[in-house]
Amino acid sequence: MISLHGLTKVFPGGVHALDDIHLTIGDGEFFALLGPSGCGKTTLLRTIAGLETPTAGRVHINDTDVTPLPPGDRDVAMVFQDYAIFPHMDVTANISYPLRIKKVPRAERTAKAADVASRLSLTELLHRRPAELSGGQQQRVALARAIACHPTAFLFDEPLSNLDARLRLEARTFLKRLQRELAVTTVFVTHDQAEALALADRIAVMSHGRMIQVGTPAEIFHRPATTFVASFIGSTPMNLLPAHATATALHAAGATLPLPTGLSPGDQLTYGVRPEYMDLSPTERPDAFPGVISVLENLGTHTLVTLETPGTTETAPCTTELTASTTSTTGTIETTSTTSTTETTETTETA
Ligand code: ATP
Repeated sequence: MISLHGLTKVFPGGVHALDDIHLTIGDGEFFALLGPSGCGKTTLLRTIAGLETPTAGRVHINDTDVTPLPPGDRDVAMVFQDYAIFPHMDVTANISYPLRIKKVPRAERTAKAADVASRLSLTELLHRRPAELSGGQQQRVALARAIACHPTAFLFDEPLSNLDARLRLEARTFLKRLQRELAVTTVFVTHDQAEALALADRIAVMSHGRMIQVGTPAEIFHRPATTFVASFIGSTPMNLLPAHATATALHAAGATLPLPTGLSPGDQLTYGVRPEYMDLSPTERPDAFPGVISVLENLGTHTLVTLETPGTTETAPCTTELTASTTSTTGTIETTSTTSTTETTETTETA
């Protein structure tokens, strides 16, 4: 278990990288730190690892206050974005390096390295040097080295970011399976929300050194605490529309919607709706957002439709196959599905 109590880090020059962080990460939990560049994710990970000294606050690992301890005495293994494996050592020597530091006898080190290598499908590569390995293989060597020393916790700083898209997906699945097997507490830094949603038991969304929301992927996705979280999570950002309540309805971007409980006439609010939960309709309805289609993007499985709605820009993916061509003055939309074909010539659609 890792717990952080009022962790604050102010760098020389006055940058508040961490601002009063309180958090408990459970034993065996896969925990993701997610947020835009510069929000403090790496600083937090490095502070847990002992590579940064906090300006204020304490770090506890398994009820021990490790704040004054150097990195080597914290029993955590950190894997960096660039793997940081030794170029002059072969795979066996790289994996067994932490054991050498701990003065484990050579025969035991070699046996341990072979065991961990077989878990990570590296057996055939034990005598190669990093220059003779692919990016994905190098990444597995870095992981193997972290595993070999049986740490209390893994600290991963964007370990998949140097891999190409296909390898990254493979490595993600592999990492999740491995973490489940080993049941080692894992803190994983990423700026990729899809990666965090896919891997983590819980996610902390950070901004400007603060934790804006901590929750399960489902909580973060379905019940974002702030508009920042709402727009940061989701492959297409959530639509955020200015809205106001009257005595009987909620009005947003030209639509008249049912009044949620707890609102009073005159209340001004932001109405959030994910593009995945919207459909296009060619007919006007009072509870639909009227709009003019401005952009169509073919994403393979669906087409992303951007509508200009009154006072804002609205986006909605459409799950039918949608192709479009525009003339000089009006848009021509052809909608084709496996069961029906319709053709309309309109500039206004509702979502
Ligand atoms: P990224 O995703 O780009 O790696 P991050 O969320 O990991 O970003 P950090 O690297 O933790 O962010 O940086 C947080 C803030 O602290 C940034 O404003 C950064 O410029 C600043 N910072 C980080 N390290 C130092 C340092 N050694 N000295 C001064 N400022 C620093």
